Amino acid sequence: METYWDLIQAKVCRKCMDGDGRGNCRLPRTESCGLKESLPEVVRIARETQSGTYEDFVNALRAQVCSRCRYQLDDGTCPLRTTLECALDRYSLLVLDVIDGTQASTFSRAS
Ligand code: SF4
Ligand code: SF4
Repeated sequence: METYWDLIQAKVCRKCMDGDGRGNCRLPRTESCGLKESLPEVVRIARETQSGTYEDFVNALRAQVCSRCRYQLDDGTCPLRTTLECALDRYSLLVLDVIDGTQASTFSRAS
């Protein structure tokens, strides 16, 4: 069975501006991907907000992932989010589609 990360690599990394178009990451070794680092939390949040909307998912990400991220500033803003440099934020809708797709039979996200 494919892992969530296998699916993310196939569906998100292939389209990511920091990838090589084949699912491989080209970020420098000194940088890490926020999506990869927090994937277990992202999957949990997607499940917990399954009866809600995309906005509920994003709000929960901000509250539970961004709030603990080293890049978020005290005022709640994030320079990486502002400049579209965070893959988790940039592809959050696509990520949610991937996770929802694995649970299609039980999942019913409101629009
Ligand atoms: S930055 Fe993250 S989402 Fe983008 S290719 Fe690298 S691992 Fe995948
Ligand atoms: S948007 Fe900013 S604070 Fe949130 S995970 Fe990405 S880098 Fe961290």
